[in-house]
Amino acid sequence: GSEISLVKSDKLTTCTHLPYEPFQVKKGGEVVGFDVDVVDLVAKKLDVKQEIVDTPFEGIQTGEDLNAGKCDVAAAGMTITDVRDENLDFSKPYFEATQALLTKKGKGYKTLADLKGKKLGVQQGTTGAEYAKEQGKGVETVQFEDLALLLTAVKTGQVDAGINDNGVLYDYVKGNPDTEVTAEFDTGEQYGIGVKTGNDALRKEIDAALDKAKSDGSYDRIYKKWFGK
Ligand code: GLN
Repeated sequence: GSEISLVKSDKLTTCTHLPYEPFQVKKGGEVVGFDVDVVDLVAKKLDVKQEIVDTPFEGIQTGEDLNAGKCDVAAAGMTITDVRDENLDFSKPYFEATQALLTKKGKGYKTLADLKGKKLGVQQGTTGAEYAKEQGKGVETVQFEDLALLLTAVKTGQVDAGINDNGVLYDYVKGNPDTEVTAEFDTGEQYGIGVKTGNDALRKEIDAALDKAKSDGSYDRIYKKWFGK
């Protein structure tokens, strides 16, 4: 056992929002992904197993789930933002991302301006939805509760394009060659693992695990496993 107090004493409980492939996705009844492997390093350090709770992104990013004791950590490909930072505490950054645009191949939409009068799919509560609201003047946005619904809407033509983080979109086009990523918007985002405000003990364990993973090669190994480079 560890000296860190956990919501379930023998588990490191993680709140996430499925699916967000390749960060977290259910495969063969098990949740796997980049974030899962990163948090597993923390769990290992604390000598407990990770237990994953799938829950809407809203409660994750507002800190509500952490405050309610639903989980110890929030790992959901979640961008560190000033607003979120007021409601929960973040580990040091563990991944870089930027907003990107997904379309059916050959549509020719490369900017938000190209989508004036068109439908742009966004995922509720995300930095992509926020970016579209701020920068997409005259663009009709359509909200989706999760990434899978958004991706399917682009593929089936229910929306003309979709905005989301580059990592998940590039992963999707690999298996869906009828779609393409046509733009990156250079939003310069960094993902952090959330803990309840003031849980410095756990936050420091996460930071230490990230430092170690970067220096001993396990971060690179996990990166290659999920991104293949
Ligand atoms: N990185 C984006 C955000 O934090 C998307 C996260 C997600 O949908 N899981 O808003």
